Amino acid sequence: MKDQYGRELTDLRISLTDRCNLRCVYCMPAEGIDFRPQEELLRDDELLLLVRVAAELGVRKVRLTGGEPTVRPGVVDLVHGIRQIPGIEEIAMTTNGLLLEYLAPALAEAGLTRANVSLDTMDPDKFHRITRGGKVEKVLSGIAAAEAAGLRPIKLNSVVVRGFNEDDVASLAALTLDRPWEVRFIEMMPFGSVGDFAEAGVVNSEETIEKIEAALGPLTPLNLSGEDPARTYRLPGAAGTLGFISPVSQPFCAKCGRLRLTADGRLRLCLLRDDEADLLTPLRLGATYEEIKETFRAAAFRRPFGHALAEKMFPQARVMIQIGG
Ligand code: SAM
Ligand code: SF4
Repeated sequence: MKDQYGRELTDLRISLTDRCNLRCVYCMPAEGIDFRPQEELLRDDELLLLVRVAAELGVRKVRLTGGEPTVRPGVVDLVHGIRQIPGIEEIAMTTNGLLLEYLAPALAEAGLTRANVSLDTMDPDKFHRITRGGKVEKVLSGIAAAEAAGLRPIKLNSVVVRGFNEDDVASLAALTLDRPWEVRFIEMMPFGSVGDFAEAGVVNSEETIEKIEAALGPLTPLNLSGEDPARTYRLPGAAGTLGFISPVSQPFCAKCGRLRLTADGRLRLCLLRDDEADLLTPLRLGATYEEIKETFRAAAFRRPFGHALAEKMFPQARVMIQIGG
């Protein structure tokens, strides 16, 4: 499956829920967010049908996200169900890690292959502040559990936020010195009610790289032109790698082959634009399998070329927790 600009679409990110057990400053406003009633979210059978459709159209990799994917009831069975779908070669998860301590073995057993765990700082007070209440020790236990369960590779995601964690990037990067992890630094993107906050506090990747090199030595580039949106590097003598994801300062739209399915059954055509196609309504109105497939394919074809952050326009309709990153 390709879009109108010829970009191959093999990667589907699925939001399993619009709820979370944290409330990160860049992802949700402090208050006043409307969660969808349960009956307006995709049920397991509907979700599995859409993954089957996507796989028949060429999707090979699924990433489960949210909200926090591990708080969805029955998440282990859902992973198992996706595993059975012909064509799906990889099932990854992006998680805040809080529940991995308990869930990692069962998820790995059910067919999850890899995990990205979000970790913006290892300082307990700063972690509490950026997540509005989280306990970093739980995340560290979760990462250890993911590793013990055999999930590979382990990637850690840090969104760098001025005034919150921009001075912690070197200590996060130093984790790769003796662990074979990829620690990835993500530029904060603006969405809806947290858009002004994100625009004011974004730290670009070049600044992050300078801070890390000043503390830990020069970075050796690994892939600067690959398909992965992360530019990757290695610290001198390190076991793991560093990744820099720079949607704001160095957009990678020309190579973006990602589709996103929101928890309420919309195909989101670009992370940073409001364009969506409703799949839930036709599903519930009794559309046939072939009709759903055609709606999916036609919507994917319409993907816009890229975002408009350079023109100071950001999506208004949803914040990240309602999309799925
Ligand atoms: N709850 C899970 C987690 O935190 O990993 C999965 C969902 S979360 C929305 C997915 C990823 O999006 C996380 O790595 C998070 O840090 C990132 N994220 C959330 N809001 C963001 C923003 N405004 N800009 C950049 N990344 C953001
Ligand atoms: Fe929850 Fe993840 Fe958003 Fe943080 S980034 S509020 S953990 S969904």
